Amino acid sequence: VELPIHEAVLGRAADFGDLPALVDGTDGTTLTYEQVDRFHRRLAAALADAGVRKGDVLALHSPNTITFPTAFYAATRAGACVTTVHPLATPEEFAKQLTDSAARWIITVSPLLQSARRAAEIAGGVREIFVCDSAPGHRSLIDMLACTAPDPRTGFDPAEDIAALPYSSGTTGIPKGVMLTHRQIATNLAQLDAPVPTGPGDRILAVLPFFHIYGLTALMNAPLRKGATVVVLPRFDLETFLAAIENHRITGLYVAPPIVLALAKHPAVARYDLSSLKYVISAAAPLDAQLAAACAERLGLPPIGQAYGMTELSPGTHVVPLDALHEAPAGTVGKLIAGTEMRIVSLDDAGKDLGTGEPGEILIRGPQVMKGYLGRPDATADMIDADGWVHTGDVGHVDADGWLFVVDRVKELIKYKGFQVAPAELEALLLTHPGIADAAVIGAHNEDGNEVPHAFVVRQPTADDLSENEIMLYVAERVAPYKRIRRITFIDTVPRATSGKILRRQLREHT
Ligand code: ATP
Ligand code: MG
Repeated sequence: VELPIHEAVLGRAADFGDLPALVDGTDGTTLTYEQVDRFHRRLAAALADAGVRKGDVLALHSPNTITFPTAFYAATRAGACVTTVHPLATPEEFAKQLTDSAARWIITVSPLLQSARRAAEIAGGVREIFVCDSAPGHRSLIDMLACTAPDPRTGFDPAEDIAALPYSSGTTGIPKGVMLTHRQIATNLAQLDAPVPTGPGDRILAVLPFFHIYGLTALMNAPLRKGATVVVLPRFDLETFLAAIENHRITGLYVAPPIVLALAKHPAVARYDLSSLKYVISAAAPLDAQLAAACAERLGLPPIGQAYGMTELSPGTHVVPLDALHEAPAGTVGKLIAGTEMRIVSLDDAGKDLGTGEPGEILIRGPQVMKGYLGRPDATADMIDADGWVHTGDVGHVDADGWLFVVDRVKELIKYKGFQVAPAELEALLLTHPGIADAAVIGAHNEDGNEVPHAFVVRQPTADDLSENEIMLYVAERVAPYKRIRRITFIDTVPRATSGKILRRQLREHT
């Protein structure tokens, strides 16, 4: 049977009854499975009563809270398509998303209300703003729980109806609205069951944002579908994060590379008891194998597993199965999940299929491929070819056992005199230098028109005398001559998206 996403996730909520579904990592407030299930039905009825209709777009604008999932499932149950919004979006950015998605409703939280109101004013077309907590002049989800309206009994076509409209991260251009059907999201959850099983007793820490497809899947839908407990933190702060692992006896972490870096290097880590952890999975950006190993060793954990995906793929295609963490080769992003096909093709116009070990563009086909970009048929056609293959824009190679390695994005490769240099490789190498706290590399244009690797380096506080020459030499001793760093700029922090991706566009503005 095919189910809409709220039923695919909460279908077994009654079995899990009194088990804790969501725990506020700061004050311990808990919602049981029975409550999430009951509350999302009540709220769906209240939203329908307020005028939310099948196919309406509802913008969910909130940091991670224990209410977020209930609001999400209530909205889809009422028939809405949820577009999740970055809680730190400026009113102008938020307004763009409202306009682009033609959103009619907003659910926000009182601390973000001003921003939401301003965005709605700029965009126009929003009929009502609800708040999760409470604010004068706005209906509150808490009060709406008292609504006695009947269940909307919306009819769904899971294969066609859009459940979610997350926006891509905007790393390479403007963020695009990605239309994901109920079936695509539910299918991807089912595909991830076998490699990353979870269930009652597992305690997952949700520090990556729910609004991004990675958090939405790995930290919300997947654990709640299986009876695990999700401990929620509103933002990443290292000490709060470490304290939450200790206090809530967290068993599994889904993180992005900057958190792996902090776990591997930060002195505060040693002050906390992290012994409840059984595994750490990293995704969203390239993770260096040496850094991963250092982190796992320091925490006394099995090797860190990686996963790979993108918003357009609902989002997962590869993961290192939890029972294969030890056998997986260092640096792999995992094996292809069930029901999904992959090809690696050459980067030139020929696009011919490549063999084992040869790097090329990763192509994906499967039931989790998005329906398309909202209102952008040309961009959709560029992404998905006539045979249904998604051209990911990522470079990778696969070994004889099927383990995939992601090199970098095609667009980020630096073309130095006919050679191709992957920024991720140089960034990883720079991080092995004890005096370097963080680093990012981009292609910069030289006076002669050539592209050259340009490194942006954050020095460790104890290494403020580390010089450009020392760094260039360190790299030159370890890489082929064409990969050498030719320019260095010292900076205070590397600009990153919440998902951990380096914002190379911002660095380019520096050059
Ligand atoms: P936009 O498409 O708007 O430019 P984006 O591609 O960063 O933004 P997302 O869908 O959030 O938006 O990210 C998907 C991308 O993240 C992938 O295409 C890939 O480049 C990167 N990625 C995901 N997982 C991994 C991983 N394990 N290793 C390396 N890169 C990864
Ligand atoms: Mg992308």
